[in-house]
Amino acid sequence: MHSYCLPTVSERGWGIQAEVEMKNLKWMLAKPLIVGVALSVLIMFVTVLGLGGTSSSAQSSHKTQLLWYGQSAFKLTTPSGKVLLIDPWLTNPVNPNGKADLANLNRVDFILVTHGHSDHVGDAVEIANKTKAKLVTTYDLGLAMVAYNKYPKELVEFDTQGNFGGELTLLNNEVKVTFIPAVHSSSVSSDGSPAIYAGNPGGFLISVKNGPVIYHTGDTDLFGDMALIPKFRKVSLMLACIGGKFTMGPQRAAEAVKLVNPTTVIPMHYGTFNLPGTPQQFAQELKSQGVKSRLRVMKVDETLNL
Ligand SMILES: [Zn+2]
Repeated sequence: MHSYCLPTVSERGWGIQAEVEMKNLKWMLAKPLIVGVALSVLIMFVTVLGLGGTSSSAQSSHKTQLLWYGQSAFKLTTPSGKVLLIDPWLTNPVNPNGKADLANLNRVDFILVTHGHSDHVGDAVEIANKTKAKLVTTYDLGLAMVAYNKYPKELVEFDTQGNFGGELTLLNNEVKVTFIPAVHSSSVSSDGSPAIYAGNPGGFLISVKNGPVIYHTGDTDLFGDMALIPKFRKVSLMLACIGGKFTMGPQRAAEAVKLVNPTTVIPMHYGTFNLPGTPQQFAQELKSQGVKSRLRVMKVDETLNL
């Protein structure tokens, strides 16, 4: 779980230890013979633990948080507490708490959807009706989701719609969303009738002020232009589909990671629909292909502080 440096929510509480150390410091000051040595040693401890605690707990309330619901569904909470959902299929088959997660969602500011397939549109409409979250999609997908998925029309505004190469500035400059292409398909079909055009599929580059730069690939194959992404912004976290069959699998996904060169990669879009790719295979491929990015395999419903 702690295979790399992103701390989890549970790694807090240094402040109490710092207080204990302060008491120790007062006690030691009463011992004149050893005061010199002890004082310097304790000052070192108090400095290390105290400063670590203060900054850790202070920062944790202002950190970006990322929660994975399974498949390609993530919840991103910004340092100021705003909430973005990406491909929000919370009630997917690998999330046993999907219904509860859905019920517990109270605040959502934006819903980002990469393409029209049902495992990515997911619970977007139900969440929008409840939270009034605005839709961030390509223009064409926005039209299709209003017409065929019944996403509330008043929540699909001109300033949250875009297309590839374009960038949205949201939340008073706290978040920027760049539309990245994907090699896949995109259509909506809710009742088994023939698929309806829903624009081209994509991914998102989400840049959080005082936080990470996250590349969510959407559903895609490996494509050479992924190498262009880091020319414009260093990616700290790549959320990469690895399941195979409908998207790139572990081997091609490892090559994609090499092109994007993120600090950390988190695999997604596996474990559903009998998709063959696994995180274990992905780990092997990253290793055998000499990829330097760190692998972090998230558990469903786990939250990371970034
Ligand atoms: Zn999919």
